[in-house]
Amino acid sequence: MAPAEIRLVAERVPLQSAHEVIVRLEKVTRVYRQDSVAVNALGGIDLEIRRGDFAVLVGPSGSGKTTLLNMIGGLDSPTSGRIWVAGTEIGRMSKAELSDVRLRKIGFVFQEFNLIPVLSALENVEFVMLLQGTSEMVRRARSMTLLKELGLEGLEHRRPAQLSGGQQQRVAVARAIAAEPTIVLPDEPTANLDSKAGAALMDLMRRLNEEKGVTFVFSTHDPMVVERARRVIRLRDGRIESDERKLG
Ligand code: ADP
Ligand code: MG
Repeated sequence: MAPAEIRLVAERVPLQSAHEVIVRLEKVTRVYRQDSVAVNALGGIDLEIRRGDFAVLVGPSGSGKTTLLNMIGGLDSPTSGRIWVAGTEIGRMSKAELSDVRLRKIGFVFQEFNLIPVLSALENVEFVMLLQGTSEMVRRARSMTLLKELGLEGLEHRRPAQLSGGQQQRVAVARAIAAEPTIVLPDEPTANLDSKAGAALMDLMRRLNEEKGVTFVFSTHDPMVVERARRVIRLRDGRIESDERKLG
């Protein structure tokens, strides 16, 4: 076999072990307390996210989508129940271990973008890789390529305030995927994009899923996103109503 073929085979191996569970939730609840009022945001979630999933959380506003994404990504702790990421229970990790998992394995895309206002688009995309110690040359090259693929060529040196909402969203997605995390968690990624930009974004993420095996769990209201997902998890009042994988 030629060296190039050997490399291709090796790269396919992770995709073949597609049933590996990368995040597991068991009886997870989350109660928010505000003054004397308790809100049951999650009411007992059992869920497994498998490597290679391209899944969407769908449900009305207030059904617990954002809370659930925060649980999957280790940004918030359950009121009761247990969560494992890559085989280790989050509750047993030290703060340092948990933040290392978040940095290396998880890419967040927040609804409000959360870009760093004093950095340019390019610097925002490079930021996670900078924390990971990726060399400047690799950082720059990957960021420029991603920004171009997301239709932001020529805007690399603008700050977030000089970009539209949709452009900021695309920078946030580029930042989340630049460091090649195991799992990416975009919260309503197309909410601020027109339908063409939203479809282009979904296509890009689907390509990363198929070619690099990056796992995605989205939340959305957008039927276009639901249509393109391969697994649809419906939430209602903090509970999973249905969880279906599409065939093919
Ligand atoms: P979704 O993302 O589906 O709109 P959320 O996960 O944001 O839903 O919210 C689920 C429920 O928890 C809602 O009733 C919401 O009002 C409540 N909630 C979310 N975050 C907080 C918070 N920080 N404090 C109090 N209640 C909250
Ligand atoms: Mg939300």
